[in-house]
Amino acid sequence: MFNLYNKYIFTPGPVKMYESTLKLGSIQTPYFRNEEFSQIVFECEKILLEILNAPKGSRVLFLTASGTAGMEASIQNLLNAEDKALVINGGGFGQRFVDICNIHNIKNYNHQINDNNLKNTEELEVYKDATALLVNSHETSVGILYDLESIGKFTKKYNILNIVDAISMFITDKLDMQEQNIDVVITSSHKGLALPPGLTMVVLSPTAIKKINPKHQLYFDFNSYIKDGERGQTPFTPAVLIILQLHDRLLNIKKEGISFHNNKARDIAEYFRKEIEKLPLEIYSNFMPNAMTTLSPLDEKSASDIVRDLVRIYNCVLTPNGGELKDKVFRVSHMGDMTKEYVDILIDALYDYYKISRGE
Ligand SMILES: *Cc1c(COP(=O)(O)O)cnc(C)c1O
Repeated sequence: MFNLYNKYIFTPGPVKMYESTLKLGSIQTPYFRNEEFSQIVFECEKILLEILNAPKGSRVLFLTASGTAGMEASIQNLLNAEDKALVINGGGFGQRFVDICNIHNIKNYNHQINDNNLKNTEELEVYKDATALLVNSHETSVGILYDLESIGKFTKKYNILNIVDAISMFITDKLDMQEQNIDVVITSSHKGLALPPGLTMVVLSPTAIKKINPKHQLYFDFNSYIKDGERGQTPFTPAVLIILQLHDRLLNIKKEGISFHNNKARDIAEYFRKEIEKLPLEIYSNFMPNAMTTLSPLDEKSASDIVRDLVRIYNCVLTPNGGELKDKVFRVSHMGDMTKEYVDILIDALYDYYKISRGE
């Protein structure tokens, strides 16, 4: 029997949601063209800007779409034929930025890198004539967290617009627009925010707002989102329930503090990595975020078989890789409503699978 439900979720999106999020998901969708809903949107914007330490005058656009739409819309709205984008391409999501640039005829440097977090940005110096830099701060396909401080210093030095797809590290890992010199943050509902998929937020600094192209498309025209956002509204029907769930989540994050959430994810990630040390699995990336652990089998097992077996035998959903990494790599997410008890279910399953005693 095909069974989508009641599995233990360790995937980097969707992630395990909080109880209060699930409750809000069961209400009737309220009407939204009114003052009450505008207040909710305003409050979401305010808290998001606060926890991102966004420069004064920054704005948040709420797009009803998955994260890739935020990537594409940012390129369409912020870049034009005069620009030259530098894409940090460390895997599948970096390549997606390259593909978007090519489809929209945006000139680009495709800087391919491997197991490098760009703490040292010397290799980027040759691209100093770029006008924008596009980076997926956590390249989720392989689990690399780039050094946003160093990248931000580089873009600031050469006056390059710094566009960061932070979709899979926002909440779990440090993101600070002012400290890291970020002009645009793209984030989405179904990763660290632990909400259902369907809502994407693009945060624009005043510098980015000045770069918005004149209106040349309908649904994702940033000018309309900026204008309607001034009264807490969106140009088209938003993902109303997800915005209510976002509001609930942000109030909690604000109350507990963003560093509490960074630390919580770090503790969970460190716990998982420590507890599986006895297993024939190797950490794949040297620069892992708190959000996720990427593992490689040390024995003859294929990574995709492990993923298949873990869901079949233990009901634990992990994430396989595609292409040439299919047999080499699988991924375990630490985003969302994770507790050590919940992670123990997976750790115990892995020990049982390998017939190794977990011990004390
Ligand atoms: C998940 C993710 C996205 C968005 O993917 P969608 O399937 O469009 O939601 C974009 N960038 C990164 C780095 C991601 O991890």
